[in-house]
Amino acid sequence: SENTHKRSDDRSKAAFAKAKLIIPGGVNSPVRAFRSVGLTPVYMERGEGYRVFDIDGNSYIDYVGSWGPLIMGHAHPEVIEAIKRTAEKGTSFGAPTELETMMAELVCERVPSVEVVRMVNSGTEATMSALRLARGYTKRSKILKFEGSYHGHADSLLIKAGSGVATLGLPDSPGVPESVASHTITVPYNDLESVKFAFENFGEEIACIIVEPVAGNMGVVPPLPGFLQGLRDITEKYGSLLIFDEVMTGFRVHYHCAQGLYGITPDLTCLGKVIGGGLPVGAYGGKREIMEMIAPSGPIYQAGTLSGNPLAMAAGYTTLSLLTPDTYEHLERMSLRLQLGFESNASKHGVPVTINRVGSMVCPFFTETHVINYETAKLSDLERFKVYFASMLDLGVSVAPSQFEGMFVSGVHDESAIDATIAAHDEALRRL
Ligand code: PMP
Repeated sequence: SENTHKRSDDRSKAAFAKAKLIIPGGVNSPVRAFRSVGLTPVYMERGEGYRVFDIDGNSYIDYVGSWGPLIMGHAHPEVIEAIKRTAEKGTSFGAPTELETMMAELVCERVPSVEVVRMVNSGTEATMSALRLARGYTKRSKILKFEGSYHGHADSLLIKAGSGVATLGLPDSPGVPESVASHTITVPYNDLESVKFAFENFGEEIACIIVEPVAGNMGVVPPLPGFLQGLRDITEKYGSLLIFDEVMTGFRVHYHCAQGLYGITPDLTCLGKVIGGGLPVGAYGGKREIMEMIAPSGPIYQAGTLSGNPLAMAAGYTTLSLLTPDTYEHLERMSLRLQLGFESNASKHGVPVTINRVGSMVCPFFTETHVINYETAKLSDLERFKVYFASMLDLGVSVAPSQFEGMFVSGVHDESAIDATIAAHDEALRRL
């Protein structure tokens, strides 16, 4: 195990107590508060490669990776160098820079369906803007999404949402007007029959389907064979748009994103996380004809004071440049090794688990059920997850503090990191 001494968290406890007085719940994003696992959040001091170090002097092999962005690990020297070099010339201009065009070219080159792309500052902005575009383009109001998916916190998407919303058990948020919620249709993930039923009833009113091509916010749930193609077919039939929310999967599951992996071409794609290399970036893009409806070329408005920010572009561009087809082979090998190790530990200790994995998105569910949607994900033993999570932290491994989130392996995790993680997992299951 990583930590030979007992993990202390005195400093984290003090830091959290102080923060709680002046920040809602002590955090700037809910899952960080460790509420559902009943622990004090670990305050980080620094990261290096696959490791993070907290303010109490503990270190962890990290599988949070800032919730996905850090596909090349923490503080990658080339990314840090690019940020420094760019910062020296000024942090923001509110005027176009050439770096934005370089970034757009790289994204259009890599993401099969993207011909034109607009940069924003978060995944939430990307999905919110893509929805507005889909509605403006189709002149329709309804949208269809899937239970347990999370697409950021825009009003119309906070209905039966996943991620922190699922973790905290708050499926529908107060503050979302009924008039807004009534335009959102929600059906189970991987359930084409329900999608068809919704379209038979409301097809002419549905602007778009928004889908995580690999669900990553109810734990990791891969699309069943034919599911994504079915969504493509039905949206085409009814003149609706298909939006892939690749905020998590983009540049994560494949060099050409999930759409490259599965060979399905959406109309619009939302990006975030990896594309910013750890700085605040989102993007949405797609078919030229649709994207040209956005201001200033078209009438659909969307803007941002800091959009295309030089530091964010530098971090994102450098991160994407570091990714090669070899990176994805490495990710696959390391992630498979992790999966097999976890599976063998589980059978050794007689603990029922199902490990869902697509590339470097890995999710050990504490259930024997085949997890194909939010209903089945919820069959996981959350009490067990709590004990497992605490043990992993004590043993020097940082995973997301929720059963409804995956682990992210990075391009700098090596065999020794994976094997140390498998050893910690063995011990954590023994302690259950
Ligand atoms: N879409 C998906 C699929 C996500 O996983 C997330 C964040 N986890 C978002 C959208 C929202 O992104 P952000 O947190 O950057 O607003």
